[in-house]
Amino acid sequence: TRVSNAVTEVADLFIGGKWRPSFGTDRFTVTSPATGEVLWDLAEAVDADVNNAFAAAQAAFERHEGASPYERAEWCERIADQLEARLEPVARAISIEQGKPLAEALGEAGSAVEGFRLAAQEARALRGEMIPTHDTRKRVFTHRRPCGVYAIITPWNFPLNIPVEYLGPAIASGNTVVWKPAPTTAGIAVLLARCIEAAEIPPGIVNLLTGRLPELGRTMVAHRQAIGIGFTGSSTVGAEIARTAYDKRKILELGGNGPVIVLREADITLAAQQSAAAAFANGGQSCAAAGRILCESSVYDDFVAALAAEAARVVVGPPLAAGTTMGPCHTRDVYDRTQAHIDESLAGGATLVFGGGPVPEAATLLFRSPAVLAEVPRQARANIEETFGPLAAVIRVDGDADILATAAMSRFGLSSAIFSESYPRAIRLAERLKNGQVVLNDTSNFWELHMPFGGWPGSDSGTGRLGVRETLLGMTEVQSISMHLR
Ligand code: NAD
Repeated sequence: TRVSNAVTEVADLFIGGKWRPSFGTDRFTVTSPATGEVLWDLAEAVDADVNNAFAAAQAAFERHEGASPYERAEWCERIADQLEARLEPVARAISIEQGKPLAEALGEAGSAVEGFRLAAQEARALRGEMIPTHDTRKRVFTHRRPCGVYAIITPWNFPLNIPVEYLGPAIASGNTVVWKPAPTTAGIAVLLARCIEAAEIPPGIVNLLTGRLPELGRTMVAHRQAIGIGFTGSSTVGAEIARTAYDKRKILELGGNGPVIVLREADITLAAQQSAAAAFANGGQSCAAAGRILCESSVYDDFVAALAAEAARVVVGPPLAAGTTMGPCHTRDVYDRTQAHIDESLAGGATLVFGGGPVPEAATLLFRSPAVLAEVPRQARANIEETFGPLAAVIRVDGDADILATAAMSRFGLSSAIFSESYPRAIRLAERLKNGQVVLNDTSNFWELHMPFGGWPGSDSGTGRLGVRETLLGMTEVQSISMHLR
């Protein structure tokens, strides 16, 4: 595990329990968005590596399909122990490689440990049922079986936690995995693979492929030995995967765009604090971020002023520095898209109430100040698309019908929040929103690992549910066995 940030670490592919060089000759580097240092020198996997990884995963699946749930739970517990023992250095590595403040990275690492422990717990609790029949000579029971090899493809915004949301349930339920992390946080994936190696679980259950080309993900998704896909990432790539993998099992966790809704009965101080938390935590690079905020007219001015005051409290700086509450954007794309959404809103009549520019004298050009925009027009991309950067775009609304219509202008349906001291109104509104999650009076980022999480049907936010038990159910299939008593 990284001790000094000045040394570039080198790693290969983790296949069948061993670190192996790629069959290709290309390598790629991972650079810190916070310091510009080269952190990792990694292998670019090619088709032959993909075939190798699937062969190892298939063989491991066949060898261990019959393992007891208690044994699989023990594997998860051992990985959790290894990760827990390295919590601090892994969190520092997340901070420097992804860019989030150390406190947030520690939260992510702790949550990843818990994720493996929860998966162990759910594996021991996965049950079938007896089914009553007309035929009194029959005894019918059901049980859940693992499916085979899962291709798992993960993004960079929570480079440890999101993989664990799939790997824990996959291992716990008896599936095996070929995993490809986002190229820009592939070093974190290597650290987790090292924990898995140190946990001495049977070889081939988790295989890691690194690479910077989208072709690697495409090859995995289309692979004949991939029985299922677990993907968290953008809606564009998710839609492509849904088409390619039309015949495979899928959990697709895609983009989100709130909304956060501030009703006229809201506690404005609370609404401003929690909206700022939702907009700027992880630099706004969260699928549950408050990208857009719909606020009712009678409290609009007070809310915008309170939100600007909260944004002014955000301390942008090096993610490992004490006191920093927001690090750099992870990529140039995030930085530029955030700027484009601000510029477009301003051209459409919005006003910039706070921030929004570059941070002078920062170590890299990826640091920007948190932005608050008011009077954002409804047709602006900030309302319709996902900004996924440090922007709180406030839109003026009035009444439930207007709120629902404005909410529906975006095709996303992931996490949302409502601020109101009137629970009857808030609950009725929540029950009409087309979102997988609605949080009342807290940040739209609120989520604990065991809660079901995913996109609403018909939205661009994906299909299937995370949430440990939900993921175990999604990655297993019910089999019924009927016994005839003569
Ligand atoms: P992305 O879609 O660009 O990349 C995600 C992963 O897919 C990466 O590993 C990438 O290398 C790989 N990939 C890229 N092209 C591919 C292809 N054609 N076929 C297969 N794999 C391919 O997303 P990102 O920028 O890394 O992550 C940000 C997105 O993830 C945002 O839209 C965010 O909302 C979403 N997200 C969703 C959730 C959720 O739970 N719903 C959680 C976190 C992030």
